[in-house]
Amino acid sequence: MSPILDRFDRPLRNLRVSVTDRCNLRCAYCMPQEEYRWLEREEVLRFGELSAIVDAFCLLGVDKVRITGGEPLLRRELERFVEQLSRRSAIQDLALTTNGLLLAQQAPALKQAGLKRVTVSLDTLDEAVFAQLTRRKGLSDVLAGIDAAAALWAGRVKLDTVVMRGVNDHELEALLEFARERAVELRYIEYMDVGGATNWSMDKVVSRAELLGRLSKRYGAIEELHENSSAPAERFRLSDGTLFGVIASTTSPFCAKCDRSRLTADGTWYLCLYARLGIDLKAMLRGGASTEQIAARIASVWGARADRGAELRLDERARGPLLDASELRTDPRLEMHTRGG
Ligand code: SAM
Ligand code: SF4
Repeated sequence: MSPILDRFDRPLRNLRVSVTDRCNLRCAYCMPQEEYRWLEREEVLRFGELSAIVDAFCLLGVDKVRITGGEPLLRRELERFVEQLSRRSAIQDLALTTNGLLLAQQAPALKQAGLKRVTVSLDTLDEAVFAQLTRRKGLSDVLAGIDAAAALWAGRVKLDTVVMRGVNDHELEALLEFARERAVELRYIEYMDVGGATNWSMDKVVSRAELLGRLSKRYGAIEELHENSSAPAERFRLSDGTLFGVIASTTSPFCAKCDRSRLTADGTWYLCLYARLGIDLKAMLRGGASTEQIAARIASVWGARADRGAELRLDERARGPLLDASELRTDPRLEMHTRGG
């Protein structure tokens, strides 16, 4: 079916489903505190409930679903949810974003359950930087997870690196070479001023332009691939054929092509990463609404959508973090680890 369109003719095709707000890391750009206001346990939807909401989205043309979190592999028996979704013929692309810590153990069951693609967040290859950035140990487990994924999903594994000046930007080349050796594609992500990024400042952002400049000094000419896709990453090729991506959400946002929205583990639907308010689909579901009724609500909200959060941030002169810690404490759903990135 043809997907529904918002006020800027952007289709609703891509849904990110967060299955938990909990995490076993504390990445500085996402969760700078040690303790948080977590979602209440009884508020978190069961897999059957999440699937029912996903079905409503599928009725409207969503065909790409990405499971995320918090750390999705902390949700017990995640493969059961993967299996439920993989039986939906409407879903063409079923992917997972994980920090990789628990991936080596869980990869075979997830593959068996029908997971099609995996993205692992990898910001450093250095134990000390990993400990500083995530406030936890475990880089070797992440690397084992990447190897397990690369073996099971050949050609369908990506690595995402959030680049922070002074933290991991001395590893741009090492990370690219690590990815090349494993035949996986690396994507550099500009550090964003969203959710828990309460220590964000523009001078810590390594822009796409700077990044490409630095890589071309080392590797020579870089070719940009002009692809007509809604994916946020622009793709590039080194002269030896190595492909990589850049997600320039901060300096060059992709709002004009954004076809994604996100569902939190408690069934709140957000149309933009920068949105302060979401739509409570859990109340409808638990109140007995049918899939069609939920789909009708989603359709009317999407039809009125005019969000372009990252573009509007570009116009702000004295740009600092989007939210401060006191605002974040008012609503756990403002956090990136609740929205799923
Ligand atoms: N825990 C999983 C992981 O880290 O891959 C999935 C959830 S995490 C919130 C999803 C993505 O959000 C990660 O790839 C992470 O790099 C990204 N992210 C979180 N905070 C960010 C920020 N301030 N700027 C850019 N990306 C961010
Ligand atoms: Fe890091 Fe992902 Fe956990 Fe955020 S949710 S702290 S990005 S591992």
